Amino acid sequence: MASKVFVITGPSGVGKGTLIRELLKEVPDLELSVSATTRSPRQGETDGRDYHFLTPEEFERRKEEGDFLEFATYSGNRYGTLRSEVERRLAAGHSVVLEIEVQGAQQVRAAELESVQIFIAPPGPTVLRERLAGRGTDSAEAIDERLKVAEQELAAQGDFDHCVVNDEVSRAATELIGIVRSELGRAPAGR
Ligand code: ADP
Ligand code: 5GP
Repeated sequence: MASKVFVITGPSGVGKGTLIRELLKEVPDLELSVSATTRSPRQGETDGRDYHFLTPEEFERRKEEGDFLEFATYSGNRYGTLRSEVERRLAAGHSVVLEIEVQGAQQVRAAELESVQIFIAPPGPTVLRERLAGRGTDSAEAIDERLKVAEQELAAQGDFDHCVVNDEVSRAATELIGIVRSELGRAPAGR
């Protein structure tokens, strides 16, 4: 089976992390790329597992060295995918999931790397606030900022190969798993 890169995006609080956890349980040989960020770790997050937590200076240095496949500023912090995270997994024969925001997804599309692009959408206009508040990891100001970004992100959903509405976790996870399995069973473009 050919290895592929899956870009999974969607507004904050839509349930990307939740659905990706289900996906990784069900599809062997699929691995999540660990991103770099300058934001502070949340309670329970571990360096190297959830993110590579970098200082702004380290992030800029690695950017100058060309270490990032893509990077973006989101809500005042830097986020980026390290090329090494993706390359070593592909070289080992694994497919890779990138959980990134919309600007990063656009950069991956513009790069040489072939990817399958999946947008996770909310079932209605109020669920993002409810889910972010329910998650309890962000201040009221941070939630407002994330919801502002979400408006632009939702406007970009037409640019994606697939859209999954996260109405109910088990239903949406089943749909996502189906898309990934079907893409993995398909030969890469051009062959
Ligand atoms: P993201 O990674 O997109 O920011 P999370 O996966 O952290 O989102 O989900 C945000 C919150 O919403 C979490 O508390 C999660 O348990 C909850 N959640 C995720 N999917 C659903 C769903 N389909 N219905 C209700 N709550 C959900
Ligand atoms: P959070 O702070 O909630 O962990 O992430 C905020 C946003 O940054 C989310 O939309 C998440 O998908 C995105 N993100 C995480 N890692 C990366 C990355 O490496 N690159 C880009 N462009 N976005 C990322």
